[in-house]
Amino acid sequence: MPELPEVETVRRMLAANISGSRILRVDVFYDKIISTGQEAFVNAVSGQTIHAINRVGKYLVFVLDDVAFISHLRMEGKYNLIAAEVDVPLTKHEHLVFHLADGRELRYHDTRKFGRMMLTGKDDYRDRKPLSTLAPEPSEATAEYLWLRVSNSRRPLKSLLLDQTVLAGIGNIYANEICLRARVDPRQIGNMLTEEICARLLTAATTVLAEAVAAGGTTISSFNSGGIDGLFQAQLLIYGQKTCQVCGGEVTRLTIGGRGTYFCHHCQAGEEEDEQKCQ
Ligand SMILES: [Zn+2]
Repeated sequence: MPELPEVETVRRMLAANISGSRILRVDVFYDKIISTGQEAFVNAVSGQTIHAINRVGKYLVFVLDDVAFISHLRMEGKYNLIAAEVDVPLTKHEHLVFHLADGRELRYHDTRKFGRMMLTGKDDYRDRKPLSTLAPEPSEATAEYLWLRVSNSRRPLKSLLLDQTVLAGIGNIYANEICLRARVDPRQIGNMLTEEICARLLTAATTVLAEAVAAGGTTISSFNSGGIDGLFQAQLLIYGQKTCQVCGGEVTRLTIGGRGTYFCHHCQAGEEEDEQKCQ
């Protein structure tokens, strides 16, 4: 599933290549992709120029002349850009084609068909559902915000980091890396976390996501969102590792909330003792 860094990488590739392009018309081959109605979508989008491609959480927002539309890639959605005057046959997984005025085609490809697009307002999309319900990303959140959100919880930190109503955009691989870099035990219960630990977690999360964006941007050759399997994979300090890439110690594999969790006793132990000293 594309996580926030992959979606940001797709956004950058799209923005670099199709900002300023005009959409002549749209062909929709699988109408359930459009959750606000196919006919209304085609009518609203045709003839419009793409002014910006923004991102809120894992949602892409295409801002046009009069409207905007949201594209949520979900499990497998990706974009293919076909050059002008090149005859590339449509594949069975390309469900929607934006015909651009310069002859190029932007195709939406989705093997699982879980991705969705919907019309929204170009000026108020952040205040309308579904984007209005999203939590802040780590780079936008304050330590006080995170501490207030977790301090009444009896759930483990790892599960809280993955909860998209607490913070937007952290997937399982990144949650492991964030806990290691913040030197926090992923099993730590929410109400044991201090505001200082929350600050460390946000710093680690912002860094990890930014590094992943940088790595994804160098490996992606089309608009597919599989770049995380490339370079960032080589930068993982704990996820999928047998030895901790910080201290060389043995990595323990746990399951927290049904998700694979990698943990270093040396780097991530001692938080509870520290807590007790503080109290
Ligand atoms: Zn370690």
